[in-house]
Amino acid sequence: METKTKFNEIFELLRNKQIYFFDLDGTLYLEDLLFDGILSLINKLKSFQKKICFLSNNSSISTKEYILKLEQLGLVTDFENIILSTHPTIQYLKEKKIKKIYLLGTKSLQSEFIEKGFEITDKDPEIIVLGFDKELTYEKLVKASYFLQDNLPYIATHPDKVCPTKRGYIPDAGAIISLLNEATGKRPKIFGKPNKEMLLFKLRELKISPKDAVIVGDRLYTDIKMGKEAGVTTICVLSGETSREMIEKSEIKPDIILNKATDLINIIK
Ligand SMILES: [Mg+2]
Repeated sequence: METKTKFNEIFELLRNKQIYFFDLDGTLYLEDLLFDGILSLINKLKSFQKKICFLSNNSSISTKEYILKLEQLGLVTDFENIILSTHPTIQYLKEKKIKKIYLLGTKSLQSEFIEKGFEITDKDPEIIVLGFDKELTYEKLVKASYFLQDNLPYIATHPDKVCPTKRGYIPDAGAIISLLNEATGKRPKIFGKPNKEMLLFKLRELKISPKDAVIVGDRLYTDIKMGKEAGVTTICVLSGETSREMIEKSEIKPDIILNKATDLINIIK
């Protein structure tokens, strides 16, 4: 009986939310494989006039390419409802009036920085910016190490240690941060999830209170931590890297646990 009442409370809570933020990798898809039922879920939420926003820390491709990727999966979106870790990073650089950057990032990411008016250089850069560099070379690491020893300011788009793929996990920006930390003792200032600003700047823009928002994600130390710090209802899905045992052991407790994002269809119907 008690469980039933609690369930009804959760149904009511989620039905009344105005905006749903969704993590991508591990929550809605794995690489190019959209999980079953995701399009029905998104359409259902839209039919209830819920705003949808996609969030990713993955800075290995530019925003333009990200939107193309989402379109190919059928998740039609535009610049307004996608938030990438690259965005607060660029905002920070603009606020600090920094122009010349040494970038550990892919050509795709480079193109976004250049488009936004930055100069990518290894000659007297003002700052080191580390992204999810899937084109990393030893030469780039050597240059970064030298600049770190020169005490150059150092920032990173996001802290994720690994990125899920169909075959298994691959090293992400956090792993590259650790490598450089081993070599130089330096750690960057980090943007992206779990930085609560990833959610709060969008909520301010839309004039929606955090209590009217939900974040759905698969990772405790980024998605769920950020949601809790922003005062947003948190849903942890078990379709990615987190298991029930990990939640039991963690200090970061989501408000709701679902096996997969599409379980929401039955809750909000
Ligand atoms: Mg994820």
